[in-house]
Amino acid sequence: MWLRPCFIGLFLKIARYKECFPNKLITMRILLVEDDDLIGSGVEAGLRQAGFTVDWARDGRAAMLALETTEYALVILDLGLPKLSGTELLKGLRARSDDTPVLILTARDSVPDRVSGLAAGADDYLGKPFDLTELIARCRALLRRAQGRSVELISYGDLRVDPSSLTVTCNGQNVPLTGRECTLLVELLTHQGTPLSRARIEESLYGWQEEIESNAVEVHISNLRKKLGASVIRTIRGVGYVMEKVS
Ligand code: CA
Repeated sequence: MWLRPCFIGLFLKIARYKECFPNKLITMRILLVEDDDLIGSGVEAGLRQAGFTVDWARDGRAAMLALETTEYALVILDLGLPKLSGTELLKGLRARSDDTPVLILTARDSVPDRVSGLAAGADDYLGKPFDLTELIARCRALLRRAQGRSVELISYGDLRVDPSSLTVTCNGQNVPLTGRECTLLVELLTHQGTPLSRARIEESLYGWQEEIESNAVEVHISNLRKKLGASVIRTIRGVGYVMEKVS
């Protein structure tokens, strides 16, 4: 309840990043490309726990298709893959001027492999075995670098939202949101004034393989209202949810 005063009198600033990058969407969706079930499921679970939305492709072709149809904030790429190798996939990506950050994750940890991966256009490289905490830290560093310091924080009234670390503060005090609540908040803030449908929100919060409870979005919205104030998110019946744009 102590957060409610944040929104009394709602003098809300237009988010600074929008002025600088009017067309830039902030997405926290990561494409994980890994054919090893054990490593893939561990990385997928760790990233989700850290608040990211994860799509997991198990071969190079599936990954290529995903990259052609979906916007990702980051790709975590194994090199030894069925159907299309990680290096070929990366070269194809860069050849069509797609500059999505790529972190190579592979057992091919020799110096020549590192060099060829980086030469093919990778932004970072982590050899297996690796520590999940380090992988997540590197992902956040790459996302920060890709978004640039000027787009890192979103201001909305007394709220400051850091999309790369999925943290929210109100008047400098940490607001304890779950990763999904924070991702949903970023999504609503990125589309201020535009209602987002439940299907659209589900798409942004969940990866391909995740099962979604039928009331999941309502639950997240309800939790955000409890933590940030009931009037922050408006329901538009039959359409969706919106955070008002305030000039
Ligand atoms: Ca592999």
